[in-house]
Amino acid sequence: IVRLDGVPMIQDGTYRGMLFLLQEVTEIRALERMRSEFVANVSHELKTPVAAVKGFAETLLGGGVKDEKTANSFLQIIYDENERLNRLIGDILELSKIESKRVQLDCSPIHLIEFFDSVLETLSKVAEKKNISLSSNVPAELFIEGDEDKLRQIFMNLLSNAINYTHDGGSVKVTAMNHLKPDGTENVIFTVSDTGMGIPRKDLPRIFERFYRVDKARSRSSGGTGLGLSIVKHLVELHRGVISVESDLGIGSSFILELPLLQEEEE
Ligand code: ADP
Repeated sequence: IVRLDGVPMIQDGTYRGMLFLLQEVTEIRALERMRSEFVANVSHELKTPVAAVKGFAETLLGGGVKDEKTANSFLQIIYDENERLNRLIGDILELSKIESKRVQLDCSPIHLIEFFDSVLETLSKVAEKKNISLSSNVPAELFIEGDEDKLRQIFMNLLSNAINYTHDGGSVKVTAMNHLKPDGTENVIFTVSDTGMGIPRKDLPRIFERFYRVDKARSRSSGGTGLGLSIVKHLVELHRGVISVESDLGIGSSFILELPLLQEEEE
C-alpha cells in the first residue's frame, strides 16, 4: 500500500509543479493490525480466568456449596486461575518491555556447566513428579558471554515446555557445544530436546507467535500462557542469536539455539 500526498509548489506566487510524497505504509498497516490483534488476544486471554474466578467466588458466596470438599476444590480453582492471571500479566509486561526495546542486556561471562546445574536443579522437582529424566551435556570449560537472568529465562522456558509436553517416564536433555563459523567467529550451539508429543509440521512455522498454541486445552491445563516461546525468541535475538525447532509428531522436539560466544559492543 502506498500513500500519495500531492502538495502544490508555489514560487513567486505561481504554480511551478507538484511535490509528491511517497510513503511506504504497508509495514505501518501490518504493525497496526498486529497491535490490534494483540490487544484482542490479550483481552480474550484475560477474560477467561477473570470469569472463572468471578463464577466460582459467586457460587461460594451464594452459600450454595454445603460440603467442604467441593468448597475447597472451588477455592483451588480460584487460586489457580489467579496464578494464571499473574503469569499472564507478567509475560505480557515482559513482552511489551522487550518489544519496545526497553530491555538492556547486562552481560558477563557465564560458566555453562554451573549455569545448567542450577537451572536443572530448579526444575528437578517438576521433572521428578512426572518421572522424567532431566540431564545436560556441556563441555567442562565452556563459557559464554551473556545476560545470566535472560539466559536463565530462555532455558527455563524451553525446559519447562519440554517437561510439560512430554509424557511421564520420558526424557529431556540440554546440550551445548562450541562451533567455529566460516567467518572465524565462535558460536555456541545449544539444543533442548525431549521425547515428548512433538509438534505437527503445519504448526512449526507459527510456534514462536504470541498466543499460538498447538493444543489450547493442554496448554491451559498445564498453566501455559502461550507467550513463552515468543519471549524466548526475542531474548535470543537480543543476544544476536537465532532459534529454530525440529520436531517429529509422537517422537519428540528439539529447539536449537545458536548464540555468539562473545557479545560484541554495538557500534
Ligand atoms: P505455552 O504457555 O502454551 O506452553 P509457549 O509459547 O511456550 O506457550 O509454546 C507455544 C506452544 O508450542 C505450546 O502451547 C505447545 O503447543 C507448543 N510447544 C512448545 N514447546 C513444546 C514441546 N517441547 N513439545 C511439544 N509442543 C511444544
